[in-house]
Amino acid sequence: MLKSAIILAIGNELVEGLILDTNSKYMSQRLKLAGYYVVRTETLPDNLQIMKDRISVALQDADLIITSGGLGPTEDDITREAVSAVIGRKLIVDKKLSDELVQRAIKYYGKSAESVSKQAMIIEGATVLDNPVGTAPGQLVEVNGKIILILPGPPSELIPIFENVYDKIKADDSLYTRRIKTIGIPEAILMEEYKDIIYSDPNVTVATMASYERGVEVRFTGPISLKDSIDRICDRLIPMLGDSVYALDDSDMQDVVYKLLKDNGLTVSFAESCTGGLISSTFVDIPGVSDVYKGGVITYSNESKMKILGVAQETLEKHGAVSEECVREMVDGCKRLFNSSFAVAVSGIAGPSGESEEKPVGTVCIALATPTKIISSTHLLRGDRNSIRRRSMLFSFDILRRGVLEWLGLREISKK
Ligand code: ATP
Ligand code: MG
Repeated sequence: MLKSAIILAIGNELVEGLILDTNSKYMSQRLKLAGYYVVRTETLPDNLQIMKDRISVALQDADLIITSGGLGPTEDDITREAVSAVIGRKLIVDKKLSDELVQRAIKYYGKSAESVSKQAMIIEGATVLDNPVGTAPGQLVEVNGKIILILPGPPSELIPIFENVYDKIKADDSLYTRRIKTIGIPEAILMEEYKDIIYSDPNVTVATMASYERGVEVRFTGPISLKDSIDRICDRLIPMLGDSVYALDDSDMQDVVYKLLKDNGLTVSFAESCTGGLISSTFVDIPGVSDVYKGGVITYSNESKMKILGVAQETLEKHGAVSEECVREMVDGCKRLFNSSFAVAVSGIAGPSGESEEKPVGTVCIALATPTKIISSTHLLRGDRNSIRRRSMLFSFDILRRGVLEWLGLREISKK
């Protein structure tokens, strides 16, 4: 039997629409993998009566109740009080924790407020969950075979505490999940063409997610007893999809590219026009990227394309800045400039203006320089300015990925 869970995200700022409840989104996904059926998620204001009511109802409806937020030192932080009142257990100051919090406050702010020790109030019998990032610890309370997990609101604090306690709250009959992340095959075609394999076991739940930044992901989920069946589906499907498969875990495209370059001692540089630095910026989000990333340039104007990358004026006059001729010269100049083993150049019309008859909005040219050759392609991307820029980035990383694989002799670059 699946266990059930309810998440209560607490805070006026959530109800008032000032911030988005990302904690529920994060935990719901993780709970599913831990064998829970998430019955519902609720957003509640910092109001004691409403919180008490909803915690009581949740205790009737689910095996696991998680609260997020309202653990700070201020007046409106009353989650502890609400849980304590509902289950009829006292709040007790943990003296050691209280001293620690006071010490910490003095260290960082030079003084401590009385309210700091409020965060050391622990529900009788609760397990204290250490907060490695912030001050208020989480708490795990067991009541009549059910679990109440009380967590702080800031995601940077909630996530590590939640992950530390994850194995402990995991339901026994866990679900088994496999994921296949793909790029280059439209969702409808993928699901139609391979439906015989994808839906070969009616007991396996199939979910697909398509996005501009991640391509199409197919997920297979079922109870652990279906592990063999799910593995069999994946083992048949993955070879058929070939190099359209870029990850089998939660890695993003740029993570895959980074790892591929790093593992093979290769480097890259980027020359960007319509993406305006998005590719470099996204790549630099990866810790340790300096091992493979030599640098990048944003050459937005024709002048900068000529001056910085050595694109010929003639090329720009004859073919325009959004042309394969132009990106080939850009990528050549970029690779030389940064002395990298690979380089990628992108130039496109992200819109809404700037289109011409033969080059509509969404026309994007991408060139890749490998150690031995230059490859270019033209794409017509749909969507608004932001989507076109994001999709250009995804395609750029993918072209780089395929180019590196081919250069390493691992795969042929497949025809579009
Ligand atoms: P603090 O000690 O920081 O006050 P807290 O446990 O009392 O922690 P809240 O006061 O409820 O937490 O929220 C603090 C901040 O954490 C919010 O202003 C918001 O930025 C973030 N936060 C809270 N809840 C959520 C949520 N469900 N999703 C995303 N962010 C959240
Ligand atoms: Mg608070």
